[in-house]
Amino acid sequence: MFEDISVSNLPGVGQAKQKCLAALNIMTVGDLLHYYPMRYEDHRVRPIDGLQEPTQVTVEGVVEGIASVRWSGRRSITKAKVRVDLRHVVTVIWFHQHFLKAKLTDGRRLVITGRFDPSKRTLVASRTDFQLHRQDAAYVPVYPVVKGLSSNQIAQLIDKAFELYAETLVERLPSRLSRKYRLISHREAVGFMHHPATEEQRHQAHRRLAFEEFFLFQIQLQMFRSQHSQRIVRNQLDIPDASFPCFQAGLPFTLTDAQRSACEEMTHDLSLGRPMMRLLQGDVGSGKTLVALWAAFAVCEAGGQTAMMAPTEILAEQLYDEAQLRLTPHGSRVALLTGRTKPQEREVVLERVRSGEVQLLVGTHALLTEDVYFRKLDLAVIDEQHRFGVEQRNQLVAKGNHVHVLMMSATPIPRSLALAVYGDLDLSTLAERPAGRKPIRTWRSKMNQEPKVIRYVRQALAKGEQAYIVAPAIDAQDDEEDADVTGLTTVTELSERLMNEFAGFRTAVLHGKLAALERESVMRAFVSGDIQVLISTTVIEVGINVPNATVMVIYQAERFGLAQLHQLRGRVGRGVRNSVCFLLSDATSELAEKRLQTIVESQDGFWIADKDLELRGPGEFLGLRQSGLPEFTVGDLSTDLRIMEVAREEAVKALGDKDFWLMPEYEGLRSYIQQAEPFSSTDSRG
Ligand code: ADP
Ligand code: MG
Repeated sequence: MFEDISVSNLPGVGQAKQKCLAALNIMTVGDLLHYYPMRYEDHRVRPIDGLQEPTQVTVEGVVEGIASVRWSGRRSITKAKVRVDLRHVVTVIWFHQHFLKAKLTDGRRLVITGRFDPSKRTLVASRTDFQLHRQDAAYVPVYPVVKGLSSNQIAQLIDKAFELYAETLVERLPSRLSRKYRLISHREAVGFMHHPATEEQRHQAHRRLAFEEFFLFQIQLQMFRSQHSQRIVRNQLDIPDASFPCFQAGLPFTLTDAQRSACEEMTHDLSLGRPMMRLLQGDVGSGKTLVALWAAFAVCEAGGQTAMMAPTEILAEQLYDEAQLRLTPHGSRVALLTGRTKPQEREVVLERVRSGEVQLLVGTHALLTEDVYFRKLDLAVIDEQHRFGVEQRNQLVAKGNHVHVLMMSATPIPRSLALAVYGDLDLSTLAERPAGRKPIRTWRSKMNQEPKVIRYVRQALAKGEQAYIVAPAIDAQDDEEDADVTGLTTVTELSERLMNEFAGFRTAVLHGKLAALERESVMRAFVSGDIQVLISTTVIEVGINVPNATVMVIYQAERFGLAQLHQLRGRVGRGVRNSVCFLLSDATSELAEKRLQTIVESQDGFWIADKDLELRGPGEFLGLRQSGLPEFTVGDLSTDLRIMEVAREEAVKALGDKDFWLMPEYEGLRSYIQQAEPFSSTDSRG
């Protein structure tokens, strides 16, 4: 099947290209065909008369005079005057395309696509064509790129793959559903996705693929639910009345009201008999861990075991530390299992878990390994739940019988959305921060105040505190496609520029281009205090808890979503010291002002999330990694909620069909379930 055909079978794909493709997670022809454009550009030539705002345009023009090339380091900037529409002379700018100079001769005609800024009369070219007879296209696909592979090249590869292998695309949906909802075939949809000729084709392709994506997600989700919620068999835990007071008495602080009622909800669910299926959502720092630890303790006291899974080793280690702190004094036995656990030690832990001696096992994906057996697993806690696929949750829950499930998530999900996606799941919410937390003083500053801000950071460092510095990008993009995003402050640039300022302090950079292991070790060094200043993109671990970090500086703050700014700010203000967050921004638009003001004014994640929805619209709100919901490739929960609901109903029906395993029309679906690739909400790297 095409899933197995390596991209190296395509003409023109050598080792170098294969490596670039691998960086985009494209290994097979199937991956390539399902690598969809992130947007389309309209490449029809149009007059630029009357444009007010910077706009993406395609123009036809004539070069006037000769082009110039300027170098800054290894980067080149090529400029030429081009007369457009006979009347306008525009300065066209090309990044990293000095080789064009020879072609840019006086009088040469050309077609350019790029970003036109009417006030500066500049056009930053993303695509240049010297053949004037090219076809005008209203939908030119634009693909996410990687260094060494442009969107154009990806498009060409996809076209080739489609030509050679489209036949092998597998139909997963039962024909009954395609007929019922008038969905076009998978193959046709993939074709339209890459090259829609009309808006209607684009719409049909989206509808079809979104349905499929949601449907397959729901199939897995329903299998997960059916595995653990047969309501006849009960898993009723007998929690001694004295347990909760005992747990509470061991804490150095009092529980917030929200924590207490969430704990009560847990106790109730666990004693009810019907396996619990609960989502605990609470703002960053609201103390979710403690609620989960109560549930784990209750299970210990009732004679069962708990598995607690976090998405990264650092998070797992932090959970483990807190579990030890809160539970071992009561005699509960806690263990940690991650990818870093040494083989010998691992054997010992596994044995202790198998025998039932370990009552709470904290870990990463390592918990899912086949040889991890529990004696009596009663509760599965999944922290940062949206970072796991349904399949992975299935695997964990399958390690026990009628396991109670507690999922945790840091971002409030509007209830309507949660219901559409998860069906009848119970929600607990922690809407208040623990008492005694000092508010994080938040300042909005212009770039000309940067020296002052940096001085402040240095003072904090001198007191032994730690700081985060966040930029919106990693380094200058050297790809033509991204020429229009230049002007971003980058981690690379900042770390060079601030090197002298932070001389004598231990700094490190962190971003998505670092290997996962390296990121993890940098983060770990920051947690332990070995690194004092972290200059990074938004990849900073959401759940991380470094109470000693007191300063957050965010460059070009207007570039981030509100929920994201709030999450970032939540990295500080976790200890007893005063914390500060600086939002650096020179943005002047009214929207940017309002948004930044929202963050300055409020520390309430729920309120900010609402504001974010209001100011930006649901599409953008949900586009965020931390939205707390699984991420989909095609489907968009802000616009396709209805499709999700239908997909859920149909998935329940399909699995309930007694002939499911027999009917030929479910063949595609069955093979999907059997090979069940984890449906994971992949982390977008920032
Ligand atoms: P999150 O909800 O983001 O996962 P955590 O569970 O990591 O938050 O809690 C953040 C910090 O707050 C931890 O250090 C925890 O010990 C502390 N904490 C939790 N509950 C309370 C409380 N009621 N009073 C004071 N501190 C608390
Ligand atoms: Mg947490």
